[in-house]
Amino acid sequence: MRCAQSLALHYVFYRVYGAKGIYHKQELTDIGTMKRIYMDHSATTPVDSLVVEAMLPYFTETYGNSSSLHSFGQEAAEALLASRQKIADSIGAKENEILFTSGGTESDNLAILGIVDECADESSHVITSVIEHPAVLNTCAHLESIGHEVTYIPVDRNGIIDLVELEASIKENTVLISVMHANNEIGSIQPIREIANIAKARGIYFHTDAVQSIGKIPVNVTDLGVDLLSISSHKIHGPKGVGALYVREGTPIRALMFGGGHERGLRPGTENISGIVGIAKAVELAMQRYDVDSRHLLDLRDTLIEKVLSSIDDVCLNGHATERLPNNVNLSFRSVEGESLLMMLDLKGIAVSTGSACSSKSLKVSHVLESIGISADYIHGSIRISLGKGNSMDDIEYLFSSLQEIVSRLREISAIQ
Ligand code: PLP
Repeated sequence: MRCAQSLALHYVFYRVYGAKGIYHKQELTDIGTMKRIYMDHSATTPVDSLVVEAMLPYFTETYGNSSSLHSFGQEAAEALLASRQKIADSIGAKENEILFTSGGTESDNLAILGIVDECADESSHVITSVIEHPAVLNTCAHLESIGHEVTYIPVDRNGIIDLVELEASIKENTVLISVMHANNEIGSIQPIREIANIAKARGIYFHTDAVQSIGKIPVNVTDLGVDLLSISSHKIHGPKGVGALYVREGTPIRALMFGGGHERGLRPGTENISGIVGIAKAVELAMQRYDVDSRHLLDLRDTLIEKVLSSIDDVCLNGHATERLPNNVNLSFRSVEGESLLMMLDLKGIAVSTGSACSSKSLKVSHVLESIGISADYIHGSIRISLGKGNSMDDIEYLFSSLQEIVSRLREISAIQ
């Protein structure tokens, strides 16, 4: 099956990208006039025009360095403070509990390494889950390489962490638990409050990666009971290259970089004021529009799932049926190669992804799908559709009819049925 579809894949690649990986002139014209539908919002999102509008003055008018004492600097410092306050208000935190970073990856690194560095003896123990984003998994792998111990808790068929195993894995020297709020591939939402209760009862710090959940489901640090929480701007219609880390007051954390005293000395470097104004506006808008946007996304998501599961044979929905992000649909089609499906959808102007965005250029099987036990005949035929507020029911109809047609074509050329 993989051979036959690989041929198809190469044909598709050749047609779309040409020998040097660029579009042919004729195809560029086709793509220019073709209806294009973006359904890869877990990878990144378009920047909201209100966010752009809020950011623009900070490039050319209010461009001071927020550490400078003159009025140019003080205007920038005011914008920094107001942005910190906006994010704090949006997630139920205090202004002094928000640190600005370069994105979700840096926030995860700072949370995990910063706590271990500050709290650890020579060898400390950290607990995480097998389905974390590489920003957490590779940080944990680094900890292991320098002599710390990490336990990776398994998840069930729905991608939900095993709480009994998590509690049983706690040791004398456990300093941190890091479990993501919602998974970036299958959208499963973890029982964060329960994990926080376990951590608190044992005096262990608890970090959650809320990069995919913020703006889609409620994120309030008091309700969740977390000590540290990572946010990324570009997943919520903000600019790329900016993020935030919530650190509960009194949580011991050490800087990973050294420089000036910015961000309470925890993240030195002149602040990216325009980006910070952008993430603050994006978080504010996400919270203001949460009710309307999440209802719209749920409607689209459930319509698509219902149509696919009732009309296409041999397909399964990965992730939890209800405890899932309102914009996530992760499907596995038997006897279909996900990359071929992705490329043929791309030819129809529809953008989705296979695996997680960060690893989608490699044809490696997703560690998340492996962890939830998707069988070999389904796992290669997996795609993630991540919807956004700009998608419509017409887009769902177009995607569904395209899927029906492409899956049946790919199955026709498949050697194994
Ligand atoms: N954590 C999760 C769950 C993500 O989905 C991502 C990005 O895909 C990241 C962290 C990394 O965020 P950033 O791209 O802002 O570094």
